[in-house]
Amino acid sequence: AMVAGGCGSEREGAGSTDGSSAPAKGFAADSLIGVALPSKTSENWVLAGGLFTAGLQEAGFQGDVQYAGASTTVADQQAQITAMITKGAKVIVIGATDAAQLSTQVAQAKQSGAVIIAYDRLITNTPDVDYYIAFDNFKVGQLQGQALLDGMKAKKATGPWTIELFSGSPDDNNSGVFFNGAMEVLKPAIASGDVVVGSGQTDVKQTATQGWKAENAQSRMDALLTSTYGSKTLDGVLSPNDTLARAIITSVKGAGKPVPVVTGQDSEVESVKSIMLGEQYSTINKDTRKLVTETINMVKTLQTGAEPEVNDTKSYDNGKKVVPAYLLPPVIVTKATAAEAYADDPKLAPLTK
Ligand code: BGC
Repeated sequence: AMVAGGCGSEREGAGSTDGSSAPAKGFAADSLIGVALPSKTSENWVLAGGLFTAGLQEAGFQGDVQYAGASTTVADQQAQITAMITKGAKVIVIGATDAAQLSTQVAQAKQSGAVIIAYDRLITNTPDVDYYIAFDNFKVGQLQGQALLDGMKAKKATGPWTIELFSGSPDDNNSGVFFNGAMEVLKPAIASGDVVVGSGQTDVKQTATQGWKAENAQSRMDALLTSTYGSKTLDGVLSPNDTLARAIITSVKGAGKPVPVVTGQDSEVESVKSIMLGEQYSTINKDTRKLVTETINMVKTLQTGAEPEVNDTKSYDNGKKVVPAYLLPPVIVTKATAAEAYADDPKLAPLTK
């Protein structure tokens, strides 16, 4: 069995949790497929909604794509999933707004016979997640950490370099994974003194950005500039995504300071422009078109009654089970590599010319 912890279930009326994955029985080719996405905290989510609606329709399914609202995100998403169950969804794809707040809903979904796919973000503390599909989040963090070091070195050949660290929203399981990946790369440099975290704030809690909100990153950066960078130079900032990277850059510019090396993620239009202008240093290409296509492929496989392909059966222990995962490779992008990285993206390629 794959259930971790062995403490059984606290839920009422839970089905068998013997670790077997989706019920291998298939369902009608025109079934309802629910897609519950978080609020639109970054461009990838905006893109995903449109792609799921179009892709599910093209595959012959009835798609029901919902976003959590901007403020009551958790309650919205819980209600949306419940409604999908009521409507008889055969698969529910979930980009969790809060990883740990969906166990009741996914338990109900499993009981109704639906398959649960965690999309981009893991759902935690429940045995009722069948599959996880995402870009390799730990690798994203490693690439960000390495880009930060490379970018600083390109500007100033020898250290010490002074940096600040930002992480994502604590309710998103990805945030810690991104941060740990980056810290795996940065820790040796911090330990040797080559890299100094100016504020001393190195804990994922101190660095968190609630709700992945730009204004929260911007106000933390404002505060750090005041507390720590009166005369000191800030060489680099680890930013977990593009939205926060631009907020950090806005803060630094507002304080009249030179823009440090800032990392990012998502290949958002405004960040690709910023990279081409030489402001933001890097982003990550996690092509949403690919992730949605692979997710719909999983749904198609489930429809036939077969087991979808996974390529990772050890990384994503959600506290109750190790969720079988299909991970796609993320790609680091800087000004030097943007044209090549986005060559097949009609929206981004023109920005790199
Ligand atoms: C996604 C990132 C995104 C962030 C904020 C994360 O879970 O993996 O791509 O930037 O959420 O929306």
